Amino acid sequence: MTATDSQVRQAVVRPQVQPGELFIGGEWRAGTRHSDVIDPSTGHLITTVAEATEDDVHDAVRAARAAFDSGQWAGMSGRERARVLYRVAELVRRRADELVAVESLDVGKPVALCRAVDVATTAGHFEYYSALAQSLDGAVRDIPLNAHAYTRREPLGVVGAITPFNFPLILSTAKIAPALAAGNTVVHKPAPDTPLSALLMAEILTEAGVPDGVVNVVTGGAETGEALLRDPGVDKIAFTGSTAVGRHTAEVVGAALKPVTLELGGNAANIVFDDADLDKAIGAVIKAFVFNSGQFCMAGPRLLVAEPLYDTVLGILGDAVAGVPIGDPFDETTVIGPMAGERQLTKALEYIDLARAEGAKVVTGGDRLDLNGGYYLRPTVIAGVSADSRVVQEEIFGPVLTVQPFKDEDEAVMLANSTPYGLAAGLQTQNVSRAHRVAARLRAGIVWVNDWALLDPAVPFGGVKQSGFGREYGPEALSAYTTTKSVVICLD
Ligand code: NAD
Repeated sequence: MTATDSQVRQAVVRPQVQPGELFIGGEWRAGTRHSDVIDPSTGHLITTVAEATEDDVHDAVRAARAAFDSGQWAGMSGRERARVLYRVAELVRRRADELVAVESLDVGKPVALCRAVDVATTAGHFEYYSALAQSLDGAVRDIPLNAHAYTRREPLGVVGAITPFNFPLILSTAKIAPALAAGNTVVHKPAPDTPLSALLMAEILTEAGVPDGVVNVVTGGAETGEALLRDPGVDKIAFTGSTAVGRHTAEVVGAALKPVTLELGGNAANIVFDDADLDKAIGAVIKAFVFNSGQFCMAGPRLLVAEPLYDTVLGILGDAVAGVPIGDPFDETTVIGPMAGERQLTKALEYIDLARAEGAKVVTGGDRLDLNGGYYLRPTVIAGVSADSRVVQEEIFGPVLTVQPFKDEDEAVMLANSTPYGLAAGLQTQNVSRAHRVAARLRAGIVWVNDWALLDPAVPFGGVKQSGFGREYGPEALSAYTTTKSVVICLD
């Protein structure tokens, strides 16, 4: 792709996002300082966005507080809120091409993936939580105290939502949709690397009828996020990101005794048993580590293969992985786009160098793909790693797969559970009993059997161990944005 192509893409995006502006109280506000947003498929500048200052964040929280206290949103019936959320879903579908263009340009996601997963899931979430908004009924109980009691489910107030770079649309929606369904107001801080779709969504939410101040967007980096964590006007923090920043978030928010949900890093194992349907299993293995260029918290970068199949699987993988289409995210046939930025590419390459230095064998890939100056990493398979190597234990967050053999089911489970993370896991087997038995033993918030990355707004996921706590998706997420109040009425 040439610089001219990139300029064409900028022309597509520019009118649709409000460069350099913050969305506060229903108005676009110019920032006082700005940072660059880079096209990862070329390394060229797309646009600049504002870096919200502490004062900007404080104003956004005040706007969200005023919107909450006005009762304009929280005081609506669930059915009225549901209507607005359903309109958001419809607008997301109607404006899908714009959202795909912005998200693909900003993150480097292949357009086909972006349309089928990111945009479809975003619409699906608003639809799903529009239905749940109508089911926020409290329970009525008879109690033996000459009284009866009922329990209301109420919103928490102002939610500070902080999201990472890899699935900007989906991960912000996974917070905003249930938070709004329950009647909360939101201040969203997207990742500095990929903030553009959050600005477009602010426009869509407004068009759908979400009142001013109910959703506010403050772009910026760690300093902006820190201001949001510490703002006394925020009632709950919903954080998705790395385990390191999540730990810091827990410390700050815990000290203020506010509720927090933490969706953090992952490093899932994918176990191929000797009774697996090998064709299907190879498909699941590849999907598990190349999906979104491996920048997926629930990716499966640790392949565990039953010893009798080890050489066969490595042989098949070498050729199959090298054949996965990698290139321009705007090409409909592309499966692997660039990584989202230079920092992500550099980190993944450092882990590959470390594996080589430790004597591991790079079966395929292992280097940067030189294409248009973009941040492409060839999908990489590494064999001969030891279970305690950093390459196995730590989260690489790129299209990099390590492969280890195992002797029996116990060893497979032990290896799968042997990292500090516990977000996802998977197994490939045709034995139904084994599927249930092993799924129960894997320490993870979601386990896939005979596929990977099957996600639906109705199915909750989240972490155990260092992958965090709390759940997103499903009715569980709605609960995370409500509290209960019991009212006991004396009948005398
Ligand atoms: P990150 O932790 O660097 O940043 C996440 C967000 O936190 C960004 O918006 C960032 O600006 C903000 N932030 C950074 N420092 C902050 C501070 N001091 N105070 C407040 N906010 C601060 O993560 P990333 O590199 O953007 O994303 C990759 C990580 O996210 C990976 O570890 C991945 O596994 C994880 N992730 C988890 C899930 C999940 O659902 N569990 C989903 C996607 C990504």
